[in-house]
Amino acid sequence: MTEIKKTCKLENVGYDIRGPIAEEAARMRAEGIDIISLNTGNPANFGFYAPKAVEDALIANIKGSEAYSDSAGIPEAIEAIRAYSARKGILELSDRDIYTGNGVSELINIALQALIDNGDEILIPTPDYPLWSSVATLCGGKVIHYICDEANGWLPDTDDIKRKVGPRTKAIVIINPNNPTGALYPKDALLDILEIARRNKLVVFSDEIYDRLVMDGGKHFASAALAPDLFTVTFNGLSKSHMVAGFRCGWMCLSGDRARAADYIEGIRMLASMRLCANVPAQSIIRAALDDPWDAAPLLAPGGRIYEQRECIFNAVADIPGLSAVKPKAAFYLFPKIDVEKYHILDDERFVLDFLHEHHVLMTHGRGFNWPYADHFRIVYLPVAEELRRIAEKMRAFLRDYRQ
Ligand code: PLP
Repeated sequence: MTEIKKTCKLENVGYDIRGPIAEEAARMRAEGIDIISLNTGNPANFGFYAPKAVEDALIANIKGSEAYSDSAGIPEAIEAIRAYSARKGILELSDRDIYTGNGVSELINIALQALIDNGDEILIPTPDYPLWSSVATLCGGKVIHYICDEANGWLPDTDDIKRKVGPRTKAIVIINPNNPTGALYPKDALLDILEIARRNKLVVFSDEIYDRLVMDGGKHFASAALAPDLFTVTFNGLSKSHMVAGFRCGWMCLSGDRARAADYIEGIRMLASMRLCANVPAQSIIRAALDDPWDAAPLLAPGGRIYEQRECIFNAVADIPGLSAVKPKAAFYLFPKIDVEKYHILDDERFVLDFLHEHHVLMTHGRGFNWPYADHFRIVYLPVAEELRRIAEKMRAFLRDYRQ
């Protein structure tokens, strides 16, 4: 029998948040063990539901959504995205600058496939949302990770970016607000990164899917608004802010110097039309969602679920000997640091697996986010505070005698 093998293109793609640990959790579940999944940002798994207006829009538009749409998207969605982008300071978008997608994930695939040739370099943060690195690698690109500095609130280290940019660097990815750190980048930090992009003629990919999930009165700045001259692709979607990850609803906007990118844009159009179109029922909710884009705001204010859950997990983790974390300002992730000497930890994946086996809680190890050291892990703090408190107690008990 001839073995069926995966393509060599998949060799170095990385097998991040859905890798062996998630498979082990699935195996345990199949044995009847109840597992708490804190490994993906999937709000609907934790009692967060789509706003009623969004659900109503989906139901009202099911009839009439049967056909393929234009490959860029339905006109109402394009118009709503344009209006939302303008409110964020991304101006003068034409119909040809906006594409809807089956989640931001699909659009990351399209945007990178159209740009990256074998050996092209792309700057991606570490820690990252690992899809970016996986897709860039699959496209034949060489991922160059730039450091986000924990000692500086996880902000990108611009000196590191300057050191790493080279003649083959084509693009830089900015993830703001950030997954997995929860950092929200101030204007000055963004302007510094954008200046490097400007000087080196880099395409800017700005992943802003958490822009409506900001706490503590913080303000999100759209990269494209701060640098209207730079060719920028801004990614956004409803999975997180409107709790509809399963609907697969995202978009991207092309802004800045489109003339310089005419050939690249042609590639994007080609790829967008090859997948025919994004899910049309999901597109039909975009207008209703963006009519009230700050729907999640009450959850993010004191007394709101996400705010209180952050307070709870941040304080509980800070109270566990050998763990520390930067307080997240946005999204719903905490990326704690482990004192690896204290616990003699050599392998963060094993740490997470051991915790899964002993306490049936599934998390993601830091290297799953292309973080180079075995000293972090990520907690998704979507469960209610009481549950998070119980999980933190389990972690405290686990670490009491844990040594690798
Ligand atoms: N970008 C970031 C930073 C994310 O954290 C995620 C999902 O967790 C995505 C993109 C993908 O989102 P979507 O559900 O729109 O594909």
